[in-house]
Amino acid sequence: MKAVLDHVGIAASDLQASLAFFKDVLGLHVESSEEVVSQRVRAHFLSAGQSTLELLEATSPDSPIAKYLEKRGPGMHHVALRVDDIGAALAHLKARGIRLIDETARPGAEGALVAFIHPAAAHGVLVELKQPAPKVELFKTVGRRALGDFELITLCDGFLALDGGAMFGVVPRPLWEKRLPPDDSNRIPLSSRPLIVRDGRHTVIIDAGCGDKMDAKSAQIYKLDRRYHLDHALAEAGLSAGDIDIVVASHLHFDHVGGFTALDKSGALVPRFPNAKYIAHRAEWEDATHPHERNRASYLQENFAPLQDAGVLTLVGDEAEIIPGVRYRRSGGHTPNHQVVMIESRGQTAVFTADMYPTSVHVPDPWLMGYDLHPMDTLGFKRSFAREAIAGEYLIFFEHDPSMAAGYLREKDGKRYVERII
Ligand SMILES: [Zn+2]
Ligand SMILES: [Zn+2]
Repeated sequence: MKAVLDHVGIAASDLQASLAFFKDVLGLHVESSEEVVSQRVRAHFLSAGQSTLELLEATSPDSPIAKYLEKRGPGMHHVALRVDDIGAALAHLKARGIRLIDETARPGAEGALVAFIHPAAAHGVLVELKQPAPKVELFKTVGRRALGDFELITLCDGFLALDGGAMFGVVPRPLWEKRLPPDDSNRIPLSSRPLIVRDGRHTVIIDAGCGDKMDAKSAQIYKLDRRYHLDHALAEAGLSAGDIDIVVASHLHFDHVGGFTALDKSGALVPRFPNAKYIAHRAEWEDATHPHERNRASYLQENFAPLQDAGVLTLVGDEAEIIPGVRYRRSGGHTPNHQVVMIESRGQTAVFTADMYPTSVHVPDPWLMGYDLHPMDTLGFKRSFAREAIAGEYLIFFEHDPSMAAGYLREKDGKRYVERII
């Protein structure tokens, strides 16, 4: 078996005093902190080159760390070695009669799998084996692509995380967790990726992410990460909010239109794009402004009601043309009037699929979100759309995919996959 040093665990009886030394005196940087509920411990990770120091603080008197402190006082607690396959490592140790504390791996911090070797077998050292969680690359770069006469620019308004079970409906976790590994709260990482469409006359933006009005509690629930957001992305693309003249909503859920409005200096809600007209589907608007128990948490009036008050809202019907070559197409399913946006020029087609294909992992027809109000409608639309997209080589934009912005849907030997382009 091959192992590399991952971290050294240190039991701290006075966390602030320990941090004052390791952080302030030694100059190490606290990367993150995480509570491991099962072990009744909070871990603080300090980066030290290739490895980390892990300061361990007991969160309850019956925590194993509290017991350790009582017996031996603060100091070095364990050494953690990183392995690729913890199951194989444990089998290897068992075959050699090595005494283990954990016969099988269990969940540790940061989605890792861990198991401890008994110090009696390791010459007085408590050894942790750790198999890190597979990493999802959070892709935030601005991506450009020409499509006929259009320039398409995919942007990023940061990241959020939603319950993996809700994102995959009836699909069992073992099938999706390898593609989008969940965190300790079962949430999977998702992006918000608005799309700019330019034709020389107009600069259209489709959806605008979560925006920055979310309260602290919701931001925590949705693990909102806006260290990089739409303003950064627009600047990177050489644009500003004032350059946008048309804003289009796929539908009116908060993770798509939170960025449609903003608070001005006086605390009033105003359109976030000052020179734009906003387009929404009329029936979707009716649903959003008359919510019921099932959709109320997703339709936040502050994101769209101010647009009507400001007189910048245009409501349209099915198949409405946004600008020549860009049109709504009703997919339904997710909400009864959820729209995908078709972009067509010189025989080429791109599609902004919004919550119809939230991520590239959702391209199999029956991989539907638990959030969909009418899943059978989504299924019906996906079935015919996929055939059309494969035959027509549509460039598909995935609004919520954490690591891919766009790709082509392909099928080989009956298996469907996405060829990543951006
Ligand atoms: Zn939605
Ligand atoms: Zn969404």
